[in-house]
Amino acid sequence: MKEELLKDPVFGMAAGQFDRVADFLNLDERVRERCKWPKRIITVSLPVTMDDGRMEIFFGHRVQHHLSRGPVKGGLRFHPNVNVGEVAALAMWMNWKCALMGLPYGGGKGGITCDPRKLSMAEQERLTRRFAEEISTFIGPEIDVMAPDVGTTPQHMAWILDTYSTREGRFVPEIITGKPVELQGSEGRTQATGHGVAFLASRALNKLDLPVAGATAIIQGFGNVGSYAASTMASYGMKITGVSDITGAIWNGDGIDLNALQNHVAESGGIAGFTGADKIDPDKMLLQECDVLAPAALERVITKDNASQLKCKILAEAANGPTTPEADAIIEARGDIFVIPDILCNAGGVTVSYFEWVQNLQRFSWTKTEVLTKLETKLNEAFENLLLFCGEHKCAHRLGALATGIEAVAKVKKTRGLFP
Ligand code: GLU
Repeated sequence: MKEELLKDPVFGMAAGQFDRVADFLNLDERVRERCKWPKRIITVSLPVTMDDGRMEIFFGHRVQHHLSRGPVKGGLRFHPNVNVGEVAALAMWMNWKCALMGLPYGGGKGGITCDPRKLSMAEQERLTRRFAEEISTFIGPEIDVMAPDVGTTPQHMAWILDTYSTREGRFVPEIITGKPVELQGSEGRTQATGHGVAFLASRALNKLDLPVAGATAIIQGFGNVGSYAASTMASYGMKITGVSDITGAIWNGDGIDLNALQNHVAESGGIAGFTGADKIDPDKMLLQECDVLAPAALERVITKDNASQLKCKILAEAANGPTTPEADAIIEARGDIFVIPDILCNAGGVTVSYFEWVQNLQRFSWTKTEVLTKLETKLNEAFENLLLFCGEHKCAHRLGALATGIEAVAKVKKTRGLFP
């Protein structure tokens, strides 16, 4: 199994990062191995009746990295490239993210290999419900709490809630987060990840003594995270000069009108064809001069081929794993880019998921202002602690963030001891 996982490039990347940090922390060999490998890997086949009457089998995975600090927490992704190695890597990153943020969770991640753009909503509902049913014995409010990720929305969470609640014979909102507010989802959850990215980018600008108003930003990926990061940055007076999604990339040096862009995307399904900006090659867009570059889509977009040519001052990693270790080394050697590492930069989502779970367990709800204020307090605390840690240890931000998360998990493993 170890070899199988290591064959996947994304898992290889997460495992390589872990090894480097474990060396840095001088982790005891036994604790090190227990921290590195996932506790449970669940793969299920999902027969679905398609709209044309055919039956198609999909595969879904859920990886629970460890349950030592609480239930596992993490998103469920719908994407054609989903495989068990990628899901295991994402689960491992969720681990360090939750520990870094001080949330009482282990890391988990799920994924179904499918292209949601090619499935009708009825097909997506049948697929989601079948997945929820197949894994229902492995999840629970104190075991594993899922949330949206790439390709899934609050509606998918609502179907999971409904399937699980029907099975239990009672309404169980705490089984899932990122659900619609009318089903006891949290105010502020939808924008939480993007809001956190923008907030941390503004904190990084402060640290570099650069004004936030008028600062420029490029956003790669215009899904939930990218679009809310962009609109929150714009609300701070920042200028969004470049945006891309799977349909293409656009550029406007004077700043893109985000409301007009959102309307265009809602009508046409993507940014291609937007008339308020020029078309640009998506790879070239990443290399344009800007204050903040926010990769907000999938893994491994900042690579050894483009890292030396980046012209941003801040790299705000809104996606999980957007920078390869080779690119990391180049950026570290350059020393002129302020990196906000993914496990901090996009932690706004899981932090508000935690708030949602707490509200659900208490059958209580907070206002959006309460939620976003608490979120900013938590993110700022983690950000300041990271800068302190990196200053003390003279290390890069990624190493500092991972080390903080991994050390917290290792401590718990050690204190709990090995059973039997
Ligand atoms: N999918 C998001 C992430 O990667 C959110 C997870 C959650 O809210 O549990 O952090």
